[in-house]
Amino acid sequence: MATVRGSGSITVESGARKVERKTFTRQGGMCPRCEGRGAVSDIDLTQLFDGSKSLAEGAIIVPGWTTDNFFAVKPYLEAGFLDPDKPVHKYTKAELHDFLHHEPTRVKVNGVNVTYEGLVPKVERSFLSKDREALQPHIRAFVERAATFTTCPQCGGTRLNDIARSSKVKGTNIADACTMEIRELTEWARSLDQPSVAPFIAALCQTLDAFVEVGLGYLSLERPTGTLSGGEAQRVRTRAEGPIDLRYPGPWCVPRKQQRLVGGSAHRFGLASWSCAMSEGN
Ligand SMILES: [Zn+2]
Repeated sequence: MATVRGSGSITVESGARKVERKTFTRQGGMCPRCEGRGAVSDIDLTQLFDGSKSLAEGAIIVPGWTTDNFFAVKPYLEAGFLDPDKPVHKYTKAELHDFLHHEPTRVKVNGVNVTYEGLVPKVERSFLSKDREALQPHIRAFVERAATFTTCPQCGGTRLNDIARSSKVKGTNIADACTMEIRELTEWARSLDQPSVAPFIAALCQTLDAFVEVGLGYLSLERPTGTLSGGEAQRVRTRAEGPIDLRYPGPWCVPRKQQRLVGGSAHRFGLASWSCAMSEGN
């Protein structure tokens, strides 16, 4: 999804070989400010380091980033940017910048190539860019202590850049489409009369119908998977992975919905009958 640009020279093998200078861009849809996360973070630096200590004394207090952690902490101690024995609160402005915000740079530590970068971007990349629900409890507690998340001002939380949001179909852009309930989105997609992309629309409608079929038509595509309930997540997996195990009924297993689910799934997976699964489970 990233937007990339590049330039360089190419050699053209035609008659007299010649070298041409070329540039290219590849357009993606990711918001560059929040890197597609939809939120930006404000970091409480007191949760990252203890200014009264030196690096060698364990100034960095990020969980698991102890002084013997080779990739996370050794570069700060041994890359040569910082004095490992100087307390952080005595750093000059330039040293503090190198410690907290230095651009990623390849350095050698004990003969091994590693990346040195400021503590703030390193923590953002290592912890804050991940789905919080998927983090281990003590890491999640650290993230909640250290960072305050606010809606990204550039994309308004849609995760998409201006170019992606400016492209519209019948007045609706992809961010708008993602906020619609799936039921509503299916109707909208079905109303599109675009012969050139008809197979794509048909496939899209089929996927969306599958969600409605199992009673998830009220969800929207912008909903982060981490916020789904257990029953919702199970039904989403059903659509992605195939037949479900009906021995573990979720809140969706009321008879009417179950009939729809079983009937729809049987048809979808080309099965004549689900009597075995039914007798086993219910
Ligand atoms: Zn953004």
